Amino acid sequence: MKPIRRNVLLNPGPSTTTDTVKYAQVVPDICPREKEFGSLMKGLREDLVRIVHGDLEKYTSILFCGSGTINIDVCINSLLPEGKKVLVVNNGAYSARAVEICQYYGLPHINLQFPVDERPDLEKVEEILKDNTDIALVHTTHNETGTGILNPIREIGALAHKYGAVFTVDTTSTYAMRPINIEKDNIDFCMASAQKGLMAFTGLSFVIGNKAMIEKSREYPKRSYYCNLFLQYDYFEKTGEMHFTPPVQSIYAAIQALKEYWAEGEEAKWVRHTRVFHAINAGLDELGFKQVIRPEWRAGLVSSVIYPDDPNWSFEKIHDYCYERGFTIYPGKISNTNTFRLCALGSIDECDIKDFFEVFREALAFCGVTVPVKYSI
Ligand SMILES: *Cc1c(COP(=O)(O)O)cnc(C)c1O
Repeated sequence: MKPIRRNVLLNPGPSTTTDTVKYAQVVPDICPREKEFGSLMKGLREDLVRIVHGDLEKYTSILFCGSGTINIDVCINSLLPEGKKVLVVNNGAYSARAVEICQYYGLPHINLQFPVDERPDLEKVEEILKDNTDIALVHTTHNETGTGILNPIREIGALAHKYGAVFTVDTTSTYAMRPINIEKDNIDFCMASAQKGLMAFTGLSFVIGNKAMIEKSREYPKRSYYCNLFLQYDYFEKTGEMHFTPPVQSIYAAIQALKEYWAEGEEAKWVRHTRVFHAINAGLDELGFKQVIRPEWRAGLVSSVIYPDDPNWSFEKIHDYCYERGFTIYPGKISNTNTFRLCALGSIDECDIKDFFEVFREALAFCGVTVPVKYSI
């Protein structure tokens, strides 16, 4: 196996992959309607449920061909009964995306907005649920990847259930990294994409959720032809296949990535991501960078860093300097603050972060940015 040039991706997915996962895509051509391929997907789907400790009698996973946003679209448009309302607990860019999905489908919804650097106020969430008995679906994001804040999903889920609503959580940037227990965390549906925590490739996304609730959604309005949860579930139940062409090579890579996931182990993997995250924070602190989210609220996967007030600071120039040397840094996603992000996803470790900060320091010097960096306020 010829080694492939290794890039350290500090963007929030796709993430750095192992060569074994890269090479798992190189397989003999196969028609995905063959039984052989169907049995691969069956094992894959079960493993995806096991990652969140779901009981296979009660939970299932449904695969889609698309990037992670397809999951949010599918869950919201498929799980809302006629005449009912969605509540989005929104403190960042990814929950805002769910609000836009409601708008595009013309679904009745409440956009319960909180500042991007604060956790949702649970009393307000409860007040809204109490006052709006027609809310049938509550949605939020686990780790708001735009800022790196960790939301209290277990508590929000308990409230959703207290008022009889289904709880969908965008776990795209925590799944297969930060341990999740679907039942204990009060999640009915969670989701992710193979290119994030699983450290595989784009094109494969999946929703993991409660089978009885999917069955129940058989009666709900069908608002999309391609992106409907029940229709895809039903097709899998009847045939073991995806309704339309699956991302064949991405599925082979995901199967290899799962083998590597079980070999590393849930706990050891989370310890590694945490080690990477600490190394990122230590490097930023040493250079004097300020972050958006206070330390105790960080999900441990994304650092959202405020641009210093230095006339020589140029994200583009620093990005390009690092990129040419194999390190990718990423712009922020907050409308009113200029930020960039460093993420602890992927097949990387502490030593990669040490190497990164050497290059990053050189990039700052190359641009003439004063170190430690300065802020005017
Ligand atoms: C990455 C991500 C998504 C999916 O984004 P795509 O660009 O569609 O892959 C959705 N939600 C969260 C929280 C994410 O981090």
